[in-house]
Amino acid sequence: MASSSGRLAGKVAIITGGASGIGEASVRLFVENGAKVVVADIMDEEGKKLAEEMGADTCAFHHCDVAVESDIEALVAFTVSKWGKLDIMFNNAGIRGTAKGEDVLNMDMNDFDHIMSINLRGVALGVKYAANAMVSAGTRGVIICTGSVASVMAGMSPVAYTIAKHGVLGLVKAAASNLGKHGIRVNYVSPAAVITPLLLVHFRHLSGNPDLTMEQVQGWCDSLSNLKGHSLTALDVAKSALYLASDDSSFVSGMNLVVDGGLSITNHSFD
Ligand code: NAD
Repeated sequence: MASSSGRLAGKVAIITGGASGIGEASVRLFVENGAKVVVADIMDEEGKKLAEEMGADTCAFHHCDVAVESDIEALVAFTVSKWGKLDIMFNNAGIRGTAKGEDVLNMDMNDFDHIMSINLRGVALGVKYAANAMVSAGTRGVIICTGSVASVMAGMSPVAYTIAKHGVLGLVKAAASNLGKHGIRVNYVSPAAVITPLLLVHFRHLSGNPDLTMEQVQGWCDSLSNLKGHSLTALDVAKSALYLASDDSSFVSGMNLVVDGGLSITNHSFD
């Protein structure tokens, strides 16, 4: 399955949250482009199945809860010992939270802490341990984090999620600024709504309808989209991550690549 001539030929990557959605699409695309990939996730069964499908010579699963510092440390050590180095760290794992509160007036602080531990602290841990491995090996590596339109605009997501995604934008800028002297690039890819289990679970919870289908949620996403005629997919986001992971973006660092079809820069009240 892996290509020796792809855009990531010879590279070793970790993709957190690699067992589903945007992460899974990225695992498939990175392997197709020649990378060796470690799928890091808490969903062991799905992650192992995907790694097996990709082939043992190019893909491995490693259990990792990104909220647990020792798990991240072990994940990076596993990757370096298995394939000798780490070139690309894709901090993609994230949750949307289940609190109904979309408003600062009714934030649930337990839910707030839980979202921060995965979507902000978990990403900071991924940046820290990956960067240390790259710096100590002298690798001119790449770090990518998955954001959201909620990294640049409010009002469309639970408030804690919006705060965490804005926070990672600060982390990306700080890390890009710190790590440039080591030749390491750090960037953010920020999609609008994509139909994945994360979004389906969120809308089932919000609507109180456990039978809500992917098609119904897709209809809502399409109605919101600024760019008509194409529904944003996990593969679209994976392709943007591939651009940031590859030498095609060799002088791009500290940037937020917003993949939202122009949603966040459009004032719909004037349509
Ligand atoms: P998903 O639910 O399909 O995949 C998320 C993956 O992360 C799952 O495999 C899950 O098991 C894993 N995960 C969750 N908590 C984890 C933890 N503590 N440690 C390790 N892995 C964990 O969702 P997705 O939509 O593919 O989400 C991926 C990223 O994209 C997230 O950061 C999310 O915030 C972001 N995002 C999604 C959308 C969307 O509409 N789906 C939009 C913007 C941003």
